[in-house]
Amino acid sequence: MEVGHISERAREIKARAARFVEAELWPLELTVVDGGELDRTLVDAVRAKARAAGFSMLNMPFAVGGADLPMLDLVAIEEEAGKATNGLGFIVVDRGPRELLEAATPEQVERWIMPVVRGETREAWAVTEPGAGSDVAGIAATARRDGDGWLLDGEKWFVTGGDLASFYIVLANAEGVQTLFLVDKGTPGLEVVREPRFMHDPYTSKHQELRLSRCRVPEANRVPGAGGAGARKWFSLERIMIAARCCGAAERLIDLSRGWALERQAFGHAIADYQAIQFMLADSLTELAAARLLTLHAATAWDRGDDAKIVHGKVAMAKLYASEMANRVADRAVQIFGGRGYMTENPAERYFRELRVDRIWEGTSEIQRSIIARGLLKRGAAAYLDGAVGAPVGTP
Ligand SMILES: Cc1cc2nc3c(=O)[nH]c(=O)nc-3n(C[C@H](O)[C@H](O)[C@H](O)COP(=O)(O)OP(=O)(O)OC[C@H]3O[C@@H](n4cnc5c(N)ncnc54)[C@H](O)[C@@H]3O)c2cc1C
Repeated sequence: MEVGHISERAREIKARAARFVEAELWPLELTVVDGGELDRTLVDAVRAKARAAGFSMLNMPFAVGGADLPMLDLVAIEEEAGKATNGLGFIVVDRGPRELLEAATPEQVERWIMPVVRGETREAWAVTEPGAGSDVAGIAATARRDGDGWLLDGEKWFVTGGDLASFYIVLANAEGVQTLFLVDKGTPGLEVVREPRFMHDPYTSKHQELRLSRCRVPEANRVPGAGGAGARKWFSLERIMIAARCCGAAERLIDLSRGWALERQAFGHAIADYQAIQFMLADSLTELAAARLLTLHAATAWDRGDDAKIVHGKVAMAKLYASEMANRVADRAVQIFGGRGYMTENPAERYFRELRVDRIWEGTSEIQRSIIARGLLKRGAAAYLDGAVGAPVGTP
């Protein structure tokens, strides 16, 4: 059975992305280790190179100048992004805001989305609040009508890429309905309160805390077709991409620890000769293969346009399993490297810290389990196993 067939075009892009990660991003990782910080000038230069090499907007429709690749292709390419630490992988998978595009007015597309597609600006999603993360329905930010515009009030946390963005996509309760608003940086009443440090720093972008106080935006900034559903679409896409990156990260970790196991001598043997080491490697590879299949399974269902609820459940299984798997693989890799695995210059150390967030952001592992369990209790197991990778739904 062929599993997760990807197009010739995606195969070519994936191979080029793999070479780019190795040639351009791995040396950058070392500059971060040496300097203790990311050198923005170097990152911007590599970002420009990646853009010129065609690694951007692969998810956006042809109509706006994107490559319109299906999910299976995107997943295959995103795996390569997982093979770099410090968030540098995002440089080779510079995706555009397709979920926003699908909900925006033609004027909003021209004013906010096309500059992103052209690489002139960036966006950042501001959904989470100090009082509501997993419970998106519980957000407290409000939007009140004010003449021909809206007054936004609230706090937003963990706004990834806020430092690089020129506008925020803010979720607020507008007259009882969760609604997205586009808020330009510099709008009066919008304040960046903090840019805290995180476990995975130094990272390619910051995660800002924002405060909106009587922040006035015109009606033209209200996204008509989205709201909570638009934000959830963004979550789903990000979840499957997290699963893909976790698979890429695990592959690199397994290759690195295999290499070290074959090289390192202890008690007169390569440590690869010891079953304790072999079993760690065997578990890691087996779990990676399982996570990969789950990710392809979800991507196949996505591309086939299966029932959104089933796709949602399959994406949750992929995100849950792949993120938990990658954390286990990183832990084993550190163990196989011994003391060297605890050194920042070793990718295993960086992955050990950086992969931790994949069990939290875009829905924690507990939230993924709740989604899976809810679907299972409602529809039964077959609904989530049917249409396994490569076979259309209903295939006996
Ligand atoms: C580095 C980073 C970047 C982020 N980027 C963004 C971003 O760009 N934009 C954005 O809007 N958000 C972003 N987030 C927010 C992220 O999506 C949330 O942190 C995540 O959804 C969890 O929400 P929370 O932190 O409020 O935890 P909580 O929801 O408070 O959860 C705390 C604990 O309770 C558990 N829990 C909660 N509800 C249940 C339940 N029903 N059943 C069982 N257990 C439960 C959780 O699993 C978790 O273990 C980012 C977060 C981080 C750390």
